[in-house]
Amino acid sequence: MRLLEERIQRDGIVRAGNVLKVDSFINHQMDIGLFEEMAKEWKRRFSEKPINKILTIEASGIGIAAIVAREFQVPVVFAKKSQSINLDADNFVTKIRSFTHGREYEVIVSRKFLGSEDHVLIIDDFLANGCALMGLLEITQMAGAAVEGIGIAVEKGFQEGGRLIRERGIQLESLAIVESMDDETGEIHFRAQE
Ligand code: 5GP
Repeated sequence: MRLLEERIQRDGIVRAGNVLKVDSFINHQMDIGLFEEMAKEWKRRFSEKPINKILTIEASGIGIAAIVAREFQVPVVFAKKSQSINLDADNFVTKIRSFTHGREYEVIVSRKFLGSEDHVLIIDDFLANGCALMGLLEITQMAGAAVEGIGIAVEKGFQEGGRLIRERGIQLESLAIVESMDDETGEIHFRAQE
């Protein structure tokens, strides 16, 4: 999506360790006008799918997912992160490894808000190694919900997450795919999209 790529070129900052900072429009300050355009693009790309729920993970997915939910006119559920083991019969629980923080944590979704009647669109800000998405996919599987697709704002195409998801036959729509980036020059290259 050209609008998002241009914004990343203009305001994104490449940090050492393959981290792209987009704090000024996605991860800290949020540009809701941009999120609305992204939501419309996902609505177009998933127009054939019977989506009745948006699923994301706290914290940085929530802002985008909320705007997407309004565009699709369906509820949004965010998986909660928890430090303590909470093997509660009321919740679906799984473990995720964090790329940015380098540690494991639990994610939880209440059985009240996800079930076999749901056709889910998963939304997140970044896709790197795919650990966060694998956790969310596991939770939808536990719930017996159908995953209709995954919408990602920024995929880092040089990490393996995108390939792992596409290999599973899931429709993955990343609005910007970073092919390479350089923390010394600040240069960012995107994969060509249609
Ligand atoms: P994964 O689980 O795919 O390895 O990483 C996905 C999560 O890590 C995203 O939800 C995002 O919060 C964070 N993340 C991974 N790479 C980056 C990055 O380059 N920049 C930012 N801002 N977040 C990242």
